[in-house]
Amino acid sequence: MAKVQTTDIRHQPYWLDQTGPAPATGGTLPDRTDVLVIGSGYTGLNAAQVTAAGGRETLVLDAGDPGFGCSTRNGGQVSTSVKPSLPKLTAKFGEQKARAIRQTGVDALEWLGDLIESEGLDADFRRCGRFHAAHTPEHYETLVRDAEQMRRDEALESIVVPRAEQHKELGTDTYFGGLVYPRHCSVHPGKMHRAMLIRALDAGATVIGNCKVTGVEKTSQGFTVTTAKGKVQARDVVVATNGYSDGIVPWMQRRVIPIGSYIIVTEELPEATIDRLFPTDRIASDTCKVVYYYRTTPDRRRILFGGRVTTGETDTVSSAKLLHQSMVRIFPELEGSAISHSWNGTVAYTFDELAHTGTHDGIHYAMGYCGSGVSMAGYLGMRTGQKVLGLAEGKTAFDDLPNPTRPLYTGKPWFLPAAVGYYRWLDARQCRAAAAGA
Ligand SMILES: Cc1cc2nc3c(=O)[nH]c(=O)nc-3n(C[C@H](O)[C@H](O)[C@H](O)COP(=O)(O)OP(=O)(O)OC[C@H]3O[C@@H](n4cnc5c(N)ncnc54)[C@H](O)[C@@H]3O)c2cc1C
Repeated sequence: MAKVQTTDIRHQPYWLDQTGPAPATGGTLPDRTDVLVIGSGYTGLNAAQVTAAGGRETLVLDAGDPGFGCSTRNGGQVSTSVKPSLPKLTAKFGEQKARAIRQTGVDALEWLGDLIESEGLDADFRRCGRFHAAHTPEHYETLVRDAEQMRRDEALESIVVPRAEQHKELGTDTYFGGLVYPRHCSVHPGKMHRAMLIRALDAGATVIGNCKVTGVEKTSQGFTVTTAKGKVQARDVVVATNGYSDGIVPWMQRRVIPIGSYIIVTEELPEATIDRLFPTDRIASDTCKVVYYYRTTPDRRRILFGGRVTTGETDTVSSAKLLHQSMVRIFPELEGSAISHSWNGTVAYTFDELAHTGTHDGIHYAMGYCGSGVSMAGYLGMRTGQKVLGLAEGKTAFDDLPNPTRPLYTGKPWFLPAAVGYYRWLDARQCRAAAAGA
């Protein structure tokens, strides 16, 4: 296998090369505010936009630069975001609730598309569809059954693609067919974050970066929020820290599992290569437990390839090499391709694979998107802003769900290396068996 060149790689998100100078943010920390939002990703900015537009003095604080977290680091794949199937959710919550949860995923996807298109946001938004590839023949059969169930019970369209026709979707022989989800979309995450930042500022919110919140204390008037730059009194607090949550509200910390996700981007490739590998230009992912996700960049000149590479966390030099190997396994003709960018970010999983939102001890929150938050984070952020304003439409199907944790879990996922190791072993074994039988 060719060695990937790692010395010239930029260890920051490719997206940040194209977002241009940031709008003016910052300023003096006020003594008080109506609403204080912790975290300036999609969740926090959309909550802030709603409360500021609703006439509440709104302050957004971030420990890093605005958008430091996942919202400028992701793969830009937009899906319906709800991982558990309707049958699985029905068994747990009953049919009505299960349908409401699944529908919220569809609503989030539609909300994002409508927002971008109706306001003309510069986010390279495309209704391109997703090809979800089966890594074994058995997984292909499961996808075919899923497609039928979704069409029959949820009116969700998908197109079955047998292995013989796979090259129409993706230039690889690695998979055993798959499903196209025509409603899934793609965005430029960096541009989308920038557009959401500008919307929040235009609505009147103040955004201050490099101002870490270190404590939130309840008072008779609301909350005292302690930060690296001083204290602020706030009537309402929204926690929007997702995978970067760092224990300011221990109850929330016990309910999210931070997991690193890693991405590489190739250098510019010949047009013919891109056309051969991504003929439809859909986003793509696979059925492995430790999933890989990939796509072309919005200018269709490069390939972006992401996933989890090791059982524990690693650095972006090692992840570049490992992701390159995995990419070449799927697309052997990329063996000699160089990598231009390698980065990572921390997503938040939950113990039931569902996002959670609501209030705890009077503190609003939305988090736990399980690696699929590009539409859901902004959507639940927007709904959280409405709840802060006291609007009934802020309530979602996710609001009154039980929010599970595990005994002794405090937010450090000691069990993750074992779990990821097991799933990687399972994926590899299944792939080997499938390849031997093919
Ligand atoms: C590599 C990668 C690829 C991904 N790909 C996809 C994809 O293709 N599709 C998809 O749907 N989802 C994807 N995701 C997930 C998606 O990006 C997230 O679900 C979403 O961006 C979460 O947004 P957020 O606003 O809740 O959190 P974030 O954007 O992570 O923002 C949280 C912010 O909180 C701040 N913060 C934390 N603690 C404090 C504190 N004490 N004080 C002040 N600020 C604090 C952080 O600095 C951070 O900026 C990906 C994520 C990663 C990392």
